[in-house]
Amino acid sequence: MRKVKIGAHTYEVREVEDHFESGDLGQCDYAEQVIMITKGLKPEQYFAILLHEAMEVMNTSMRHDILDSLAEQIAQFLLDNKLICLKKL
Ligand SMILES: [Zn+2]
Repeated sequence: MRKVKIGAHTYEVREVEDHFESGDLGQCDYAEQVIMITKGLKPEQYFAILLHEAMEVMNTSMRHDILDSLAEQIAQFLLDNKLICLKKL
């Protein structure tokens, strides 16, 4: 089971079979400190969604369209410039 530290908190990351009603590929339960990500995503999709959910924890008041765009672009920037290796995820 993957755990990620976000600020002072440790979140469990779970891959889940179910799709979310919202149509999103990820969701965060702040009270339980669990990030849920749809199972079966491509590694780069998984990484972008994980980054999205982590950024949402870091700043819960950021506009969602900005968050979506930033998470996607930061993930791509890190991958394209080989600043992160998907094999280690
Ligand atoms: Zn979101």
